[in-house]
Amino acid sequence: MWTIAGEGIHPIDRKSETSSIPISEIKPPSKVVIPLSQHIGAPCESLVKIGDLVKKYQKVGEAKGFVSSPVHSPVSGKVVAIGRFPHPSGNQSNSIVIESDGKDELIDSLKENSNYLNADPKDLKGIILGAGIVGMGGATFPTHVKLSPPQEKKITAVILNGAECEPFLTSDDRLMVEKSMEVIEGMKILMHIMGVRDGYIGIENDKPGAIKAINQSATGTNIKVISLEKKYPQGAEKQLIKSVTGKEVPSGGLPMDVGIVVQNVGTAAAVYNAVRYGVPLVERIVTVTGNGINRRGNFRIPVGTLLEHVIAECGGLAGEPGKILFGGPMMGIAQYSMLVPILKGTSGILIIPKGDVVLEDFRACIRCGRCVQACPIRLLPNMYSILGEAGKPKDAEEYHVLDCIECGCCTYVCPSRRPIVQQIRYIKAEMRKAKSKVA
Ligand code: SF4
Ligand code: SF4
Repeated sequence: MWTIAGEGIHPIDRKSETSSIPISEIKPPSKVVIPLSQHIGAPCESLVKIGDLVKKYQKVGEAKGFVSSPVHSPVSGKVVAIGRFPHPSGNQSNSIVIESDGKDELIDSLKENSNYLNADPKDLKGIILGAGIVGMGGATFPTHVKLSPPQEKKITAVILNGAECEPFLTSDDRLMVEKSMEVIEGMKILMHIMGVRDGYIGIENDKPGAIKAINQSATGTNIKVISLEKKYPQGAEKQLIKSVTGKEVPSGGLPMDVGIVVQNVGTAAAVYNAVRYGVPLVERIVTVTGNGINRRGNFRIPVGTLLEHVIAECGGLAGEPGKILFGGPMMGIAQYSMLVPILKGTSGILIIPKGDVVLEDFRACIRCGRCVQACPIRLLPNMYSILGEAGKPKDAEEYHVLDCIECGCCTYVCPSRRPIVQQIRYIKAEMRKAKSKVA
């Protein structure tokens, strides 16, 4: 069995609470809030003004620069506001608010192309850019950029990430079970663009249904399904590459440095729908779960739908919430408003009731070394924690803190309950501030 050697952890995952629930729709929202920044890179610029009528799939925000991505409307209706609205990052963000007319009137320019594997890779990358496709595993890096490595970087293989190692989340699992053909056709397009012969899909072995469905759809292709022994954070890009190929991405390096391009399975399906049917990325599958919600499941949700609407459609909150996370318990981001929208990168909503949230003061580091043992990057989390607490972020640089992927394994195992990831984020933020002052 293939897996990341040594490092990593096995957190309680509770995936069985949603993994066998088929994807379903929720009642369409009457209003969507579409942030102009839903990706890594420059925010896009609004193409509409208040009062404009828009159609479903219409581009409403244009990418600004190469590392950027456009946004589209998931409904037909009227633009009723443009301004700063709550964003899942915790800040306010420039957004377009569209009131739906309930008609779902489509743009006229939708075109089907069944001959996509004979298309020019450059044109396919243009379609992917135009459709606003970004990494749907949560990283939200614009896909067309990842598919455009510098000429000197020879790419030899594409890996699809179907590991979904984050506890509680099962949206990728259901996608692979129910839409395996879309995933495989998307993978063929990605391989065609990169001009590679070999493709791999890494799936953890707690998803037997996904492994079976993807294997069936991949029959007769050069795409190999790799069953991985379950371990967190195997779905992190560098860990997945190591598990699937044995190659190690160097410190500070990128997958292309070892000839690999990694994409999420959801991204592959979005690529297929854009290239085959001209459909932009305006919806995604989201796992809604936790003891704090009345109806758990996997739902197809338009991007821009507000959290309050999703919760109402899932039967409402089960008591007072203690914590609401976008994402899972290890890497999720806490939400402070019910008015935040679902983004292209929102893979899950985890609602923890108040009674289940443990608030405890952290204690001194006892130098037990558990965090060091758990770190998948072989870093020194204890040092970051001590330096962060002492207000010495600069000193952490020599310990390669920028290689940290913020997976949370160190915090999870620490017997002194030290908020190591938060201390690392503080260090990184201080380092960014210092750099911007110098520049
Ligand atoms: S130091 Fe970073 S990469 Fe290592 S376990 Fe902690 S959060 Fe994960
Ligand atoms: S796990 Fe916690 S207590 Fe142990 S060395 Fe790391 S920071 Fe210190």
